[in-house]
Amino acid sequence: MKKNDNVIVLTLGCSKNVVDSEKLIGMLSANGFTLTEDIRKAKTCIINTCGFIKPAVEENLQVVLDVVNRKIQGELERVIVSGCMVERFKESLINEFPEVDLFVGVESAEQIVRFLKPDDDFRINLIGGRQLLTPNHYAYLKISEGCNRECSFCAIPKIRGLLRSKPIEELLDETKKLSEKGVKELIIISQDTSSYGVDLYGKPMLIPLLEELTKVEGIEWIRLMYLYPAGLPEGLIEFVQNEPKMCKYFDIPLQHISDRILKSMRRGTTKKRTIELIEKIRTKIPNAVIRTTLIVGYPGETEQEFKELMQFISDYELDRVGVFTYFREDGTYAFPLGDTVPEDIKNLRREEILKLQSQISLRKNNALVGKKLKVLIDEKKNGVFAGRTEFDAPEVDNLVYVRAQKHKVRVGDFVEAIIARAKHYDLYGEVC
Ligand code: SF4
Repeated sequence: MKKNDNVIVLTLGCSKNVVDSEKLIGMLSANGFTLTEDIRKAKTCIINTCGFIKPAVEENLQVVLDVVNRKIQGELERVIVSGCMVERFKESLINEFPEVDLFVGVESAEQIVRFLKPDDDFRINLIGGRQLLTPNHYAYLKISEGCNRECSFCAIPKIRGLLRSKPIEELLDETKKLSEKGVKELIIISQDTSSYGVDLYGKPMLIPLLEELTKVEGIEWIRLMYLYPAGLPEGLIEFVQNEPKMCKYFDIPLQHISDRILKSMRRGTTKKRTIELIEKIRTKIPNAVIRTTLIVGYPGETEQEFKELMQFISDYELDRVGVFTYFREDGTYAFPLGDTVPEDIKNLRREEILKLQSQISLRKNNALVGKKLKVLIDEKKNGVFAGRTEFDAPEVDNLVYVRAQKHKVRVGDFVEAIIARAKHYDLYGEVC
């Protein structure tokens, strides 16, 4: 192996890509490569890409171009491009970037390592060999790959393939290893968490999986993300209600509320059933937080249908809301519908929802002033600790800024904090 074989891995896109990169980095280290976070020190650069929607693709192409230019200037010896963008556009990427040494799709860690060390013996280092890119006290657990659903706007099934659930034993092993590394919060991710197990076991197996994961010592919080609304496993809400380690947190992407649009989106649910689900969660677990994502500007979305969505948000006051404008993506079922809502209208609608939601969020945060909350400390900035409650996922939800005058607090600690002040998306408090 050549002396300076520093490798840098650039991870773009979602938390599922983060897990893929963590496995790749673990395998590179196990095979003797040195990882660097400084591209000037690297000889090999691997870009793990996202290819989900147009703006992400444009951003990723820019990163590839920058890195290829570094190679042309002799700063890098090898460039490898992997991930979702390659799954979608491999042929055109090969033509556009002949300087790139290897293009590989998703889940390609072994292929990449074998390419970088063709002669040397290869060490597999699978289970637990992840090198976390998140702070050591929380980690994502990707329980399956791919998706069997056919949401009309979505290209992911074409990128990541059909649903492939990972065996419970394998996930349990991975979780034990993560706990040994100091992980306290386990964030369950996939494309469609509700469907876990239907491929491998012929029936939904999310609850049996969670029953095993909650037994792992050291894991104190388990958070569920990407729950498909029309397929929530029977008994899941009650399981979350009764299991102390389960965060009272439901990330359920709803996308819209109008029955005509939900039908066109092939979401397999209705306004009535969506409202029933929200009410059931709130009845069983009154303090539960519901996060969702919505799409505005879907082909044919009328002003009336948008108003219906606004009314729904206003009436049901979801706790955390992300809003995307619709992107017409090649190869999706919605592609033939065209892109009928003008961009400025899409952006206006997105702004209107965010404005309404910020008022809802402020009201809910103000109601927490004076309350004592359990906070997991993620980082320390300028003497102030920033953390999250069980009601907030990393990167996307609210932060809690806490001062710890008299207490010794470290990153990764759980603390009790009294909330003194609130803003739209952040809370401020004191460790008690
Ligand atoms: S559930 Fe729908 S939106 Fe999510 S990855 Fe599958 S097809 Fe795409």
